[in-house]
Amino acid sequence: MRIGHGYDIHRLVPGRPLVLGGVRFETDYGLEGHSDADCLTHAICDALLGAAGLPDIGHFFPNTDPAYRSIDSQILLARVVSELRTRGWAPVNIDSTLIAEKPRILPRLAEMKLALSRSTGLPVEDIGVKATTNEGVDEIGRGLAIAAHAVALLKRL
Ligand code: MG
Repeated sequence: MRIGHGYDIHRLVPGRPLVLGGVRFETDYGLEGHSDADCLTHAICDALLGAAGLPDIGHFFPNTDPAYRSIDSQILLARVVSELRTRGWAPVNIDSTLIAEKPRILPRLAEMKLALSRSTGLPVEDIGVKATTNEGVDEIGRGLAIAAHAVALLKRL
């Protein structure tokens, strides 16, 4: 067994689509970034890669590469899982925490788990997604950014 940890944060800006855990929110603001900027999915990718002792997603999918412009991060996550499989690793479970002052995450959690389940091949019950606010503290608390933490466990195929 191998454990990995991932963290990501993106700024909230007007006029960008908001995608978290593969789920699109109907907001007039979204996360800034080269891809769809889905910080939850990026944190999960980094946890999986870290558990396998591999470099982070920036190494595999550089934000200077036009191929990844506005890309759906679920595609990146599926590629990370297949990258692990070629190296003899399979995910066992994932847990994650989103830190967001807005929007309300709870009503969309089940959809996020389903999207992440599709991308990783893991059963929904092996994927944890929790959400908390930052209690008004710092830039996340003022709604200027959304951050995510994730851990992932891998087993040998
Ligand atoms: Mg990111």
